[in-house]
Amino acid sequence: MRIVTIIGARPQFIKAAVVSRAIKAHNAQSTSIIEEVIIHTGQHYDPNMSEIFFEEMNIPKPNYNLNINGKSHGKMTGEMLFSIEDVLLETKPDWVLIYGDTNSTLAGALAAAKLKIPVAHVEAGLRSFNRQMPEEINRLIADHVSSLLFPPTQTAVNNLVNEGIEKNLENVGDVMYDASLFYREESKNKSKILKDLNLKKGNFILSTCHRAENTDDINRLKNILEGLAEVSKDTSIILPLHPRTKAIIENNGLQELTNLLTVIEPVSFLDMIQLEENAKMIITDSGGVQKEAYFFKVPCITIRDETEWVETVEAGWNKIVGADKTRIIDAVQTTDFNKPWQELYGDGHAGERIVKILLG
Ligand code: UDP
Repeated sequence: MRIVTIIGARPQFIKAAVVSRAIKAHNAQSTSIIEEVIIHTGQHYDPNMSEIFFEEMNIPKPNYNLNINGKSHGKMTGEMLFSIEDVLLETKPDWVLIYGDTNSTLAGALAAAKLKIPVAHVEAGLRSFNRQMPEEINRLIADHVSSLLFPPTQTAVNNLVNEGIEKNLENVGDVMYDASLFYREESKNKSKILKDLNLKKGNFILSTCHRAENTDDINRLKNILEGLAEVSKDTSIILPLHPRTKAIIENNGLQELTNLLTVIEPVSFLDMIQLEENAKMIITDSGGVQKEAYFFKVPCITIRDETEWVETVEAGWNKIVGADKTRIIDAVQTTDFNKPWQELYGDGHAGERIVKILLG
């Protein structure tokens, strides 16, 4: 069996690492070998947004690197579609495996579906019900042209069923949970980030901000940075800054708002786990980070108007505050997060299940 995996952005490297590891494990004990061909679209290309994940998480080197980035949505998706089609015609896979909700996901789904190659979508069925988000458009289309869908939660299953997708759904759990459990120990042993930044468990807040809805609206971005600045007067805030957010802050002269924050370059996954696990609280607009906060039982404040990961909110571990300075400050000071915790995202074996189902 030959599988073509299409990835291009940071969260996809982390998700694909889980399935690649499961493929390797399968190949080590079976005669029906799976060949995995990896296409890296190049959407994320900075070494600390891409290469570091391949090295640290032992992801096989991409067979194809398309180097497509820094363009408008249409141009980027169009160029990817064009190039991915060539690779699919050359490699003739049995399955195309796509992850999440980026332009790489959309281009991979369309290229394969048009060639009548079955598409399997890992992390299917997530919905924010906000079509202003580029990710929501990517998810909707990717799900509707996929032949096999791996929704990670019952909510995601329900979303698909509500859209008329009732067959070939397998809730295998969340590969991100697999990743967090698998790399947690290694992170404890190898990461030096707490020492380097002079941090102790519970004496800092971790924050990330990169969603277009926050970075492309200067008013929202200002509100978030002002909220963080105020909070950091009490508890120091570590902000590993996405390159896009960094550029927008600089281009709009907002650097002063970050003076009180500890702004650092994006960190590796092992470092990120240490920061998450030891933070007093997490303030983020990232999908993956909201869940990791839950995995590590760390309270989360989400600087968005809605979330796809509604279970974390219902469980009382995540609070949605929008991009509103006052609500951010208020949530940090007053929210009681001391709630029961249960496994909501599978059991840490989603990757193995995906491989088994692909094999049929
Ligand atoms: N992440 C990381 N280093 C960072 C910031 C995030 O390793 O400096 C990881 C994080 O732990 C999570 C994933 O990247 O697993 C989330 O990616 P991102 O926030 O870019 O995308 P989203 O999840 O919102 O799609």
